[in-house]
Amino acid sequence: MTHFAPPFPANERERVARVAELCYRDAVDDDVLDRIVALAAEVFGTPIALISILEEQQQWFRAKVGITVSSTPRDVSFCGHTILVDDFFEVPDTHHDPRFRHNVLVTGPPGIRYYAGVPLLTDDGHALGSLCVIDKRPRAPMSAGQRESLRHLAQLVVHRLHDLRADSFIDRPTRLMNRIRLEDDIHRHLSAREEPLLVAVDFLSPSFVNDIVKALGYSFSQRLVSEISRRVAGLIGHDCVLYRIGLTRFAFIKPRDECLATLYARFSTAFSTPVEHDGIPIRTQIGMGALELDCHTINDRDWVRLVVSAADYARDRGIGWARYQAELDIAQQRAFVLLSSLSYALEESEQLGLVFQPRIDFASGRCCAVEALLRWTHPTLGPIGPDEFIPLAEKTDLIRLLSVWVVEAAIKQTRHWRDAGYDFKVAINISPCDLEGPAFTDRLIQTLERYGVEAATLEIEFTEGALIKNPAECRNQLTRLRALGIEISIDDFGTGYSNWTYLRELPATSVKLDRSLLKDIESQEKDRRLVTTLIDLAQRLGYKVVAEGIENQASFDAVKGWGCDEGQGYFIAPPMASERLIEWIEHEGGAAAVAEAASEVSC
Ligand code: C2E
Ligand code: CA
Ligand code: CA
Repeated sequence: MTHFAPPFPANERERVARVAELCYRDAVDDDVLDRIVALAAEVFGTPIALISILEEQQQWFRAKVGITVSSTPRDVSFCGHTILVDDFFEVPDTHHDPRFRHNVLVTGPPGIRYYAGVPLLTDDGHALGSLCVIDKRPRAPMSAGQRESLRHLAQLVVHRLHDLRADSFIDRPTRLMNRIRLEDDIHRHLSAREEPLLVAVDFLSPSFVNDIVKALGYSFSQRLVSEISRRVAGLIGHDCVLYRIGLTRFAFIKPRDECLATLYARFSTAFSTPVEHDGIPIRTQIGMGALELDCHTINDRDWVRLVVSAADYARDRGIGWARYQAELDIAQQRAFVLLSSLSYALEESEQLGLVFQPRIDFASGRCCAVEALLRWTHPTLGPIGPDEFIPLAEKTDLIRLLSVWVVEAAIKQTRHWRDAGYDFKVAINISPCDLEGPAFTDRLIQTLERYGVEAATLEIEFTEGALIKNPAECRNQLTRLRALGIEISIDDFGTGYSNWTYLRELPATSVKLDRSLLKDIESQEKDRRLVTTLIDLAQRLGYKVVAEGIENQASFDAVKGWGCDEGQGYFIAPPMASERLIEWIEHEGGAAAVAEAASEVSC
């Protein structure tokens, strides 16, 4: 049997690339394309009309009428011939054409006798496939007018394919490919058992972009992104597709042996000058992440997320570029698990609890206050420290619920202690976002009222971080709380940026020297001088000074000797559950407090 497989066109490689770009095999049926084939069949009176897309090995039908198969091998396809001509290919009777007489599509179903097709040509001259009409009987050749009509319909098909691609794969603002498309292309590489390098580059931290949007508007930030994408496109090479996968985040695929240090150096040089728009220069902070695609884990990995985590890691640490490391992902997955279980924990109250650490007044030795510290026992992961889950929660809205939970639990506990005759203050830690608006303060006031607890019993500990975003609002809320008689304490004092201008204006009543400051006071003269200077400064500003993290007798004696007013730390007592705390107060730390409270109650 003579077999006339159509030859490959000269531009086959680029052509296949265009097909991959424009024709998405898994795309859902499109109504417009369906109507075009229906119209073609109707206008030409043929039982079959097809939009055939020609890939390297096969043709598949993007829309069809009159046949049931959805693809055929390329070497028997008529379309393979059509793409070789400029505008029209016709076979009036296949039985009289030696190229097709023995073709399986002629000798078997659908039994093609007549074929007329027009290539689906892109603007840059690549044929994606064809629009064709097919009859099971031989026909006279088409008239010039009929050919013209078929050509017009083919043009419509190409337009539509472009539009469809634009809809699903294009990032409109930059006209680059989007993340969906990248995921698709990754899958395509892996299916072809190719394992190239996936690279993601981020240019600005999300919070910085946010600030830009707030300060300069959305359209400014969009134009900034266009400027960044223009620079990036010039750096990755013409044969490399650029994808936009986030606000200022881009990705591309490189051969596995690409030298990342060189690639990064190229980026870093090109972005050493700020990106500028409307005369406003913005300095970028590049983070590049890379990850080798691996066929063995084709389906179960979220490649884009992993490579982005490597890029974030590089940017956050200022190290330029980083390869993806499994540990990064383990940390992220844990963060994800913790955050998703935290909302359940908030509903299931047994998982969360407060412990209380005493604070003593150096002058009297009595327990003057306790700090409420949150504890979480995860049902499968066990105890999770607040240092781990609070910073995570602070990245989400869960922190608001958590703060409300703490307020409720702490005030309820205070009510019990008051009823039992104890008068020590109760300090709670709050997060920066609690001071971003009136909601938290409102809730706190309402809870105090509900339990009939005096506001002056409560103390709020907040860190200077709260001041960064909106110092005016933060001061506002603190002033409201202070006006109620609530004590305000600046926590972790001496570790933040200590902007004295702000601190001076805050309605705070005390500072808590951060525990890290006490760590080396025994051995380091400089540390001693720093601590004494801070104590002096704070006291001159009218603040009471609390030393925290007192772990031994030497630190205890030192901070007491330096004039600190109050102290807290494992040396005095660890954080304890409420019952244990009362035992401690009764036997060790709080005899004086209880005695005084009792005498007040009796008179
Ligand atoms: P923080 O406010 O500085 O709390 C003091 C931390 O120091 C507590 O850790 C406490 O257990 C620990 N500590 C006490 N004495 C000593 C000592 O002598 N040496 C050392 N090395 N550490 C000591 P914890 O309970 O793990 O809390 C860690 C942080 O989590 C807290 O730091 C606070 O920032 C945050 N946090 C805890 N509970 C809450 C809460 O209810 N709400 C908010 N927003 N944050 C909380
Ligand atoms: Ca604290
Ligand atoms: Ca602290």
